[in-house]
Amino acid sequence: MSAGTLNISEIFHSIQGESSFSGWPCAFIRLAGCGHGCIGCDTAYAESGGVKLAIEDVIERALAFQAPFIEITGGEPLFQPAVYSLMQQLCDLEQKVLLETGGFLSVAGVDSRVHKIIDLKPPSSGVCDQNNPENIELALAAEPHHRQTFEFKIVVASRDDYEWATELLKEHCVMDSFTIMMGVSFGKLDLAELAEWMLRDRLRARMQLQLHKYIWDPGTRGV
Ligand code: SF4
Repeated sequence: MSAGTLNISEIFHSIQGESSFSGWPCAFIRLAGCGHGCIGCDTAYAESGGVKLAIEDVIERALAFQAPFIEITGGEPLFQPAVYSLMQQLCDLEQKVLLETGGFLSVAGVDSRVHKIIDLKPPSSGVCDQNNPENIELALAAEPHHRQTFEFKIVVASRDDYEWATELLKEHCVMDSFTIMMGVSFGKLDLAELAEWMLRDRLRARMQLQLHKYIWDPGTRGV
């Protein structure tokens, strides 16, 4: 694949469902390819396949939606070297760019103007040991004006996941400095139960729904 080409799963227009931007109309560029094999991956169809598109074509298609945000997601978008140029070019066009990454790869090379939504994968994902600790270190070391471009997202499926998450957040003291989004893996845990735990523990995290799964059927692609 040439330096200016991306392997794309889909480009679509939807409502942002999982982050502090939840609820906003958003153009999504979903890159194909991942291979981490998280248990419960809800975009398994994007782990392989895809069509090759030039960066300029990807940009043209995303801009056509005239959305207030453009999100780069996957699969794991950071696996493809050309994604860095895509993000930079979109920022140069004064677009508000979100990156959603599985958190296994470092975000060190990502344009500082991009808002980074970084997963912290809990034990039930089966890949908890692959979370890249450098991302928390990068966020903590960022200049104050740059810090607000980091947020962390944890999707829990059990009490064990919740306890793992709270320990991690306390250990790294990130709760006071960054937006922490915490939600439940759809259908795996009662929302009210998570709410109760968060309130009882006075957790400084924001509860989130996987909004798109409530608007549309949870199995729907391209939303
Ligand atoms: S990182 Fe994301 S796309 Fe890759 S397997 Fe995990 S959940 Fe699925």
